Amino acid sequence: MLDGMPPARLSLSAPLRAVTLRDAFWDRYTRLVRDKVIPYQWEALNDRVPGAERSHAVENFRIAAGLAQGEFHGYVFQDSDLAKWLEAVAYRLTTDPDPALEAAADEVIALVGQAQQPDGYLNTYYTVAQPGKRWTDERRKHELYCAGHLMEAAVAYFEATGKRALLDIVCRFAEHIRGVFGPGPGQKHGYPGHQVIELALVKLFHATGDRRHLELASYFIDERGRQPHFYDAEERERGERGHQGYFEDYVYAYTQAHLPVREQEQAVGHAVRAVYLYSGMADLAMETGDESLAAACRALWANLTRRRMYVTGGIGSQDYGEDFTFDYDLPNATMYAETCASIGLVFFAQRMLALEPRGEYADVMERALYNGVLSGISLDGERFFYVNPLEVWPAACAGRHDHRHVAPVRQPWFGCACCPPNLARLVASIGRYVYSTSQDTAWVHLFAGSALAARFQDRPVRILQTTGYPREEATAFTFELDQPTRFRLALRIPGWCRHPVLRLNGAELELAALARDGYACLDRAWSATDRVELALPMPVERVRAHPGVPADAGKVALQRGPEVYCLEEADNGDRLWGLGLPPGAPLEARFDPDLLGGTGVIEGPALRRSDSGWADELYSSAAPADLPARIRAVPYRVWGNRGPGEMTVWIREPS
Ligand SMILES: [Zn+2]
Repeated sequence: MLDGMPPARLSLSAPLRAVTLRDAFWDRYTRLVRDKVIPYQWEALNDRVPGAERSHAVENFRIAAGLAQGEFHGYVFQDSDLAKWLEAVAYRLTTDPDPALEAAADEVIALVGQAQQPDGYLNTYYTVAQPGKRWTDERRKHELYCAGHLMEAAVAYFEATGKRALLDIVCRFAEHIRGVFGPGPGQKHGYPGHQVIELALVKLFHATGDRRHLELASYFIDERGRQPHFYDAEERERGERGHQGYFEDYVYAYTQAHLPVREQEQAVGHAVRAVYLYSGMADLAMETGDESLAAACRALWANLTRRRMYVTGGIGSQDYGEDFTFDYDLPNATMYAETCASIGLVFFAQRMLALEPRGEYADVMERALYNGVLSGISLDGERFFYVNPLEVWPAACAGRHDHRHVAPVRQPWFGCACCPPNLARLVASIGRYVYSTSQDTAWVHLFAGSALAARFQDRPVRILQTTGYPREEATAFTFELDQPTRFRLALRIPGWCRHPVLRLNGAELELAALARDGYACLDRAWSATDRVELALPMPVERVRAHPGVPADAGKVALQRGPEVYCLEEADNGDRLWGLGLPPGAPLEARFDPDLLGGTGVIEGPALRRSDSGWADELYSSAAPADLPARIRAVPYRVWGNRGPGEMTVWIREPS
């Protein structure tokens, strides 16, 4: 900017309480989270779900608080499950007050406070199982990770209820952490092995105005990957020789600590850690105006989304390390694509949008949300995928060592239960992803029936969005305001839409003249009689992968609007790999109110490879015959709700 002023930045998102969501698509999921997931998870955290793996998360806090006897149980990051549940509860209370739920949350927050040590330290694993060993193994033991999740919960709960108890607890904990980590003599020059505290500290800064939280986040980001290496120093202090524990062969890249973050250009290592780190980097780039950090975020974004992301918004190409591998390596059956990783990708995309509103960020955010995130939860809200494959052969899941991490049906709860509460907190706060505002602009990133309360020209404005998205193509915007008020309405034009049509008060607008970085910007003094209509035609699209992706060569995926579709055995019989979809075959999309609680389906003629003429031989020089068949595809997010069976996103495309 010429005058030396920083550019006007977007708020990270519209505050949750500024958005009222009433939407046929999202209400189904927010109701599930409210009525099923949050209560179910509370039971699970308290070990009251028959048949589910024991969580012990609340009991660990009781033991740490001295209120119960017993041993720590669970993973070293078990505390984070409770924190994520509390965060989901906070979002839910913001939009939907519930005194009984709030009382339960207050009670467990008091318990968390009782488990906090006199010096501010708070972690049940070390307090109960490893007293005296605190802060000795940050690479592997998740203390800062658990702290970060508690901070996120505390900020959300404070914003929802105005209650400071948990906020005060985590501020004391942050003060303790500031004493342990930092550049000073006697301090650990370190950072978390599993990131999340970086973005959490930025939230804590926003909630409290205390810049020391921002400075600590910057310290963790700036220190990461520097030499001499923190992990080596930690090991020397522990008296160990060589890297102990898992992933010894790549301890640095696994946690994105192989290089200082500003020198990182490729998405590597554990996918969830990666996108949490990148989210924190983008947060700090926005807060501090650090262009070198923003440039690193852009490079990582480009590599991740153009070389290493599934068409569903899944990330993490292999089970080993739950990590990224190399460019174009996107196997469909043995990948990881953890629900949490797609959730983290949504966080990263949202922050890149705040840094610079470009449609490509919202496109990826939407792709992940409507596909790789929501596939994580069953339609009854009681079962969850941890790994989200794009191709399933149940016999392989049961019979192959390299598929043993892939469950062919969703599970009730996991001993390692990171995904279900993560999904709950995202869905419960989905309103925050729909809009953002800057001083003179209301940005619409997602299409969902909703109202946004904002202020422009120092006057209150309500923007109403009416839509049947993603089932229907038409979205309308109207305005509630006392007098004509000037602001810019920036509507995202999705990258998947080839022929969008925009109308203002019935007159079609020239979109090319209004388009800027994937958004159509309408700047005027709006009045209460104005009506904007956006039509996003959603023909069935055949999507093909870059020719460099071997797993998808000669195959096609089906997409309508933001939703990627898949074939399931329940609709198409088995041996889905034998089905072929010729390029010219006409495909029809319709809504089936009776299938899977009401869902879109795509149907059309196809070919099925026949085994007629084959006796018992395994190989033959005879050309197999393709016989006429029909296919029916359903949205990827609803697959696996009809018992075990084959599934595939990518379909053979005969020439
Ligand atoms: Zn997870």
